[in-house]
Amino acid sequence: FQVPQAVNEPVKSYAPGTPEREAVLKVYKELWNSKVEVPLYIGGEEIKTGNTAPMNPPHDHKHHLGDYHKASKEHVEKAIDAALNAREKWANLEWEQRAAVFLKAAELIAGPYRYKINAATMIGQSKNIFQAEIDSACELIDFLRFNVEYMTRIYEEQPESTSEAWNRLEYRPLEGFVYAITPFNFTAIAGNLPSAPALMGNVAIWKPSDSQVYSAQVIMEVFKEAGMPDGVINMVMGDPVMITDTILAHREFSGLHFTGSTTVFKNLWKQIGENIHNYRSYPRIVGETGGKDFILAHKSARPKQVATAISRGAFEFQGQKCSAASRAYIPKSMWEEVKGYVVEDLKSFKMGSPEDMGNFITAVIHEGSFDKLAKFIDAAKNDDDAEIVAGGNYDKSKGYFIEPTVILTSNPKYSTMCTELFGPVMTVYLYEEDQWEETLKLVDDSEYALTGAILSQDRYAAAEATKALQNAAGNFYINDKPTGAVVGQQPFGGARGSGTNDKAGSILNLYRWISPRTIKETF
Ligand code: GLU
Repeated sequence: FQVPQAVNEPVKSYAPGTPEREAVLKVYKELWNSKVEVPLYIGGEEIKTGNTAPMNPPHDHKHHLGDYHKASKEHVEKAIDAALNAREKWANLEWEQRAAVFLKAAELIAGPYRYKINAATMIGQSKNIFQAEIDSACELIDFLRFNVEYMTRIYEEQPESTSEAWNRLEYRPLEGFVYAITPFNFTAIAGNLPSAPALMGNVAIWKPSDSQVYSAQVIMEVFKEAGMPDGVINMVMGDPVMITDTILAHREFSGLHFTGSTTVFKNLWKQIGENIHNYRSYPRIVGETGGKDFILAHKSARPKQVATAISRGAFEFQGQKCSAASRAYIPKSMWEEVKGYVVEDLKSFKMGSPEDMGNFITAVIHEGSFDKLAKFIDAAKNDDDAEIVAGGNYDKSKGYFIEPTVILTSNPKYSTMCTELFGPVMTVYLYEEDQWEETLKLVDDSEYALTGAILSQDRYAAAEATKALQNAAGNFYINDKPTGAVVGQQPFGGARGSGTNDKAGSILNLYRWISPRTIKETF
């Protein structure tokens, strides 16, 4: 069970004058000036259906990047057939052979594909280079490498045997195929959701988000070059309802690997339940969904540290992270100082196209998201129990730009304290210092439980919050922002309305993609 020791991919700096900065900009410009056509990938074939939809960068939505091809019901059925045809050979391949494909994919992204996948993520999902590097290069590489190591740890585990019986566990993949539905916000998650089950010997149908197709294609190119056999991962785009209905109606559907909204996930769960009599096995359902992630400052916290947690935790990646901080609870007496630092930070955050590497904030993903955020910002401008204390402007004439916005509210249940907005909007509630216990209850009272942070120099208060909020966040941070989980270091996922908490980037996730056989042999 010797595999290369997984190590986190070092993050390149892209500082002015570095070769990587020039290199990625060159690829950015090449991609920008060429028209890309993204086909379906079915059974190793690239299929251009002729039924297309345009791809436009969020920061310049009139620019036409090219088109992606959409599947019909027949294409989806063909993808299922291709996966099932590939299944037996793939499932029976030695694990070393499967591991090699994913390790090679990691090296291709670390090397020759790094700038392409980063540039595609910058353009298609409007990320600045630092965000793209952390996501589409480092985190994706980490998922691929660490999963291989976790797989071998699973395989090593064997039951006790006796002189009468030799007992063994055979780690089989699920019988059937896995359906991966992936979000726009992380290229790494998009790559991981089909590949984690595939590494364990499963075959997959992958439906990327319409807004991530541009970089999804690069992932398929990488898998192909890494030697992924035809049909193991099939990528289809198009009408999500039709694709999902076709897949979930199939007898061999055996698992869902999902990251996206809570509502969509609940509906999928229900649909799977309604179809349960059609399936050969009980499907595995693994999902990471919404969040309403908190920052709680104790009176002993350092104001500057609280401010940094807010500015970084809420506004990096335009707040488009499931983990992004979006509600904060600050002692009243500390707020003026914290606010001063936050306003200072926001002044230093330049907003604009990712092509200008000085820009920290770029556009939100699409018009639907922009309009939703603008609506909540406008409401806060008019509501008696809310006040905009920073930002509040927006403009979609060229791209979907929303200024990082801080709302102050006197109502701990104000709409933006409870509703997931998935954008650069933070709502702050000020509590009286003698209301600490009540505040802990307020923080805990949420339908979500993904991430959260306590900032406190008082060890007893930190311990109290850690205990009181034990069900409020699957990823809990002490004296840090609640974002930026690293594969291999902070396994990621939450409970309640935030998901099944199967911790992406950990051994726990991989256990969901196997259906082991116990073999007892008597002597
Ligand atoms: N793993 C990321 C983080 O810790 C967030 C992933 C997501 O947005 O789904 O910030």
